[in-house]
Amino acid sequence: MPELPEVEASRRGIEPYLVGNKIEYSIVRNSKLRWPVAPEILYITNQSVISVKRRAKYLLIQLQHGWIIIHLGMSGSIRILTKEQLAEKHDHIDLIFSNGITLRYTDPRRFGAWLWTDDLNNCSVLSHLGPEPLSIDFNANYLYQRAKNKKIAIKPCLMDNKIVVGVGNIYANESLFASKIMPTRAAYSLTKKEISNLVINIKQVLQCSIERGGTTLKDFFQSDGEPGYFAQQLFIYGKKGKPCLHCGQLIQSIKIGQRSTFFCHNCQK
Ligand SMILES: [Zn+2]
Repeated sequence: MPELPEVEASRRGIEPYLVGNKIEYSIVRNSKLRWPVAPEILYITNQSVISVKRRAKYLLIQLQHGWIIIHLGMSGSIRILTKEQLAEKHDHIDLIFSNGITLRYTDPRRFGAWLWTDDLNNCSVLSHLGPEPLSIDFNANYLYQRAKNKKIAIKPCLMDNKIVVGVGNIYANESLFASKIMPTRAAYSLTKKEISNLVINIKQVLQCSIERGGTTLKDFFQSDGEPGYFAQQLFIYGKKGKPCLHCGQLIQSIKIGQRSTFFCHNCQK
């Protein structure tokens, strides 16, 4: 599933091709995504792209008269085509640009979304979201205040979009391991120092992953293959039964809120 680093890498990949260029029209081959593709996108004509931004895992394409909001869902991907390329089964949407490029959206499972808003500040899918993890609004003091009365485990707390966006299961596991904190610890039990360390590690794990994505950006204008997603350097996620890279003890796994959770009993307290 595309996580925040992949979405940010996608944003950086498409931005230079889109900004300042004009969408001539769209081709929507299948409008049945998670929600129906917004009518404004079906009938888009001659609109210039002003900016390409990201909020949580949503890509935001700013046009003269509104915003296209894209969510990649479970299996969505976007890529830039520089020459005509026949659409295949799962290529649901094309945006055709006046400079000869096409932005193509592919999504085998169709859990993604293409929505529209005239006003980003009053957009229902974005209005409940917590701060961006890489912004200064997400800091030790903020997380401490949000966690200090919560009896739930710290891991689902980090994965709650109302608290902070974009910390998916992989990144929650990895940053808790880097912080030597057991994922099952009640959120309120974390000390200020632990929270401070955790915030630093969340930012570092995400930043590192975004930078890795940068090395695969050439894929955004290849016409075949899976674009943009990259192998993570993982220390704990998916490593059940393997020795911990720090201490050699075997990594264990449990479910918290149905999500796979990995930890080293020796390193994490
Ligand atoms: Zn260990």
